[in-house]
Amino acid sequence: MRPLTPAEVTVVRRHLSTRTVSGDDGCILWTGAFSDTGYGNFWTSERYIGAHRAAWYLANGPIPEQRPQLVVCHTCDVRACCNPEHMFLGTRKDNHYDALAKGKIAHHPKTGRMVGGSGRSVPKPIPRNLDKNVCPLILERNR
Ligand SMILES: [Zn+2]
Repeated sequence: MRPLTPAEVTVVRRHLSTRTVSGDDGCILWTGAFSDTGYGNFWTSERYIGAHRAAWYLANGPIPEQRPQLVVCHTCDVRACCNPEHMFLGTRKDNHYDALAKGKIAHHPKTGRMVGGSGRSVPKPIPRNLDKNVCPLILERNR
């Protein structure tokens, strides 16, 4: 990823300090805007950045450019979490196998196609009770 400019770093620091709250198990939960993929994101003045990617960046520096592309994965599986200690870099495949290992997704025994997980093709019902994986604003809207 292209390094953040000093002005962007200022924006990232401000957003991560003012738009997060402490959650369970050491998670630091994003309370700002969320993308339709369920990850926090915001405008830095030059680009949109994922809140968790921004948090990783501040702690570790730019995500290395390579093929296959690296993504910031969560050990806690909480998409809103911005605690860099709950993240690791991996490929999309690593992330997929991590989800498989945690029982988050499964494959249909006959077709081999994914039948769960975070794919947008498998819409999940929005829970009525507070779920740490769901943006509080979405929950509020659906009450
Ligand atoms: Zn976490």
